[in-house]
Amino acid sequence: MERSLVLLKPDCVQRRLIGTIISRFEAKAIDIVAMKLIQISPDLAKQHYAEHCEKPWYPGLEAFITGAPVVAMVVQGLDVIRVVREMLGATNGLEAAPGTIRGDFSSSRQMNLVHASDGVEASKREIDLYFSDSELCAYDVALTPWFRAEDE
Ligand code: ADP
Ligand code: MG
Repeated sequence: MERSLVLLKPDCVQRRLIGTIISRFEAKAIDIVAMKLIQISPDLAKQHYAEHCEKPWYPGLEAFITGAPVVAMVVQGLDVIRVVREMLGATNGLEAAPGTIRGDFSSSRQMNLVHASDGVEASKREIDLYFSDSELCAYDVALTPWFRAEDE
């Protein structure tokens, strides 16, 4: 079982797509184990996007990601890091395949609606950035036996 840090970015919140996007994760039997609406500070943005801080387009990304609230979530499931990244599609909405979230809803390389961790190390680092241990909820999801077999 893996966990991934998912952010519904400011464009997602402002476009009232929160419910639409969360519905896709629910339909895929991906479990939400933590969730909150927050305003990202410039300092948190720099920590989150440390690998991009020196890029010429970083100031625009920081202005975007701090410009309105985001929904931060920890999701859990089998192979969830890869599965969610594939559900998002390519970074640039104009290149993302139809059927993916970015392919269906975004026409931008910056305003691509959703962030998700891209590996196990990134997921641990990013979950720690946004959530304390006490905010992660452990619970039995009643419908799990109707989403996959016991040995999967
Ligand atoms: P991903 O979110 O698919 O992992 P990256 O890690 O490459 O993509 O970039 C992080 C975020 O920075 C993207 O999701 C997007 O919002 C923004 N971004 C990426 N490339 C550009 C760019 N060339 N110009 C502006 N914003 C960008
Ligand atoms: Mg990335």
